[in-house]
Amino acid sequence: MNKAVKHIISALLVVSLVMMASCSGRAARAGSYDVVVIGGGAAGLAASIEAAEAGASVALLEKMPMVGGSTVLSGGIVYATGSRLQEGVEDSVEDLVAYWSDRADGKNNPDFLHFVADHSGETIDWLLDMDVELEGPGVSGTSPVLRALTSTTHGAGIINPMKAKAESLGVEIHTRTAATGLVNKDGKISGVLAEDRDGKALRFDAGAVVLASGGFDRNPELMQELAPVALGQKTFAGSGNNGDGLLMAREQGADVVSHGGVIGFRAVEGEPAYTSDICMLMWFPYMYVNLGGERFINELTDYPLFYEELIRQEDQTAYMIFDGNSYVETLDRAVEKGSAFRASTLKELAALTGIDAAGLESTVVEYNSMIDAGVDSDFGKPLAGLPRVDNPDYYALKIIPAILGTLSGVKVNLDTQVLDGSDSPIPGLYAAGEVANGSFYNTVYPASGTSIQMSLTFGRVAGAGAAAFAK
Ligand SMILES: Cc1cc2nc3c(=O)[nH]c(=O)nc-3n(C[C@H](O)[C@H](O)[C@H](O)COP(=O)(O)OP(=O)(O)OC[C@H]3O[C@@H](n4cnc5c(N)ncnc54)[C@H](O)[C@@H]3O)c2cc1C
Repeated sequence: MNKAVKHIISALLVVSLVMMASCSGRAARAGSYDVVVIGGGAAGLAASIEAAEAGASVALLEKMPMVGGSTVLSGGIVYATGSRLQEGVEDSVEDLVAYWSDRADGKNNPDFLHFVADHSGETIDWLLDMDVELEGPGVSGTSPVLRALTSTTHGAGIINPMKAKAESLGVEIHTRTAATGLVNKDGKISGVLAEDRDGKALRFDAGAVVLASGGFDRNPELMQELAPVALGQKTFAGSGNNGDGLLMAREQGADVVSHGGVIGFRAVEGEPAYTSDICMLMWFPYMYVNLGGERFINELTDYPLFYEELIRQEDQTAYMIFDGNSYVETLDRAVEKGSAFRASTLKELAALTGIDAAGLESTVVEYNSMIDAGVDSDFGKPLAGLPRVDNPDYYALKIIPAILGTLSGVKVNLDTQVLDGSDSPIPGLYAAGEVANGSFYNTVYPASGTSIQMSLTFGRVAGAGAAAFAK
């Protein structure tokens, strides 16, 4: 081969290598839709359904192998006023707003509370019309008003009918498809970059995009920045909740609203699921002590408020004390797994756990005298029917803080349009659910059922708004 031919061949090789490299960096076009929704939890499915019902073509991108997010893992409680299941209950939109506001010390945005409260009953009726089976109402949080409706099959009982409805309306659900960025054309959001299950880059063109990607529990950098109080704590949230939507919106100039809170919960150390029988032991109304051996709270306190006290204790650790009077077999399995300790005296139990022995012994003496008197003079817990702690063996079950979600998100208006730093909507970009919940909360979660309600109600608004924008 002469020198000139070699030169031409190597030049062609370089050109084709450059072409291959630039092609692999370019996203393959995966389709063009009126609305692309990122995330398949309560908010994303609600948005997809409303957008499709408004006549839009819709693609829903879900990065996990199945839709559902935190919603499908949830207890399936939805908080509402004015639904057809609440007939006969004395309640009003104003009362619900007052309750939510009170639990936030008035530091959340009243317009958001009012909007969700006002539409909450309608959202429940919408679920019922989709054959979601709800029971109740019951109480939730610290309000005695009957507002909590519970799916008979927990989170799945909400997600499955919504998914079926979305599919029946022609929504294309792409699982194992992770959105990686937003396409901005001349200042308007006009598509989503994504990656399929094999890591292939895809581009979905869109008339409008809805972010519904949930919270950021699993993103340590965002936790450090927006919710440092819970950095490093266990989370029970969906495995896909890395704050992707929040980061993508920020790249487009979106503002973020954060008061630093989380949906505070608790767990038995070492338990992966909050529904395991060992974890369920934490709901018994028995005595909790800190490492000083002291009680620190009425053990029946609403869980987000309990969390606030738990994280103030030494090492953010508490132990639940059981004995022969409160024994259940599950405790022995907890001992085998290392999440509980067993001893024949309180002193030995203290040595095993690191609890202060003198503190524990004097707390137990005082607690038993309160049980005898029937009055919890320290924290006001109702003691009727509760046993004394005086029957070896003694058990200590280790309790740590855990979270169910985050309470900061991209700034939106009541139409769920994402707002930039000067409160102007970013054209074509909508957000709903945990990814956009910052204005709704202060630092403490108000009542079980609030987040799914807020996610559904704003998800519906986002879907309708995105469909109208795309037309
Ligand atoms: C164990 C548990 C119990 C709970 N119980 C209740 C309850 O009973 N009542 C209540 O009101 N609240 C409850 N909550 C809180 C509530 O479930 C959530 O706050 C709410 O469901 C959030 O809905 P969402 O649609 O915003 O997010 P999610 O339901 O979390 O959905 C977000 C989805 O987006 C996907 N996603 C994320 N990033 C991407 C990406 N880049 N590309 C594509 N997809 C992406 C995720 O995989 C996920 O499927 C509970 C939470 C937990 C963890």
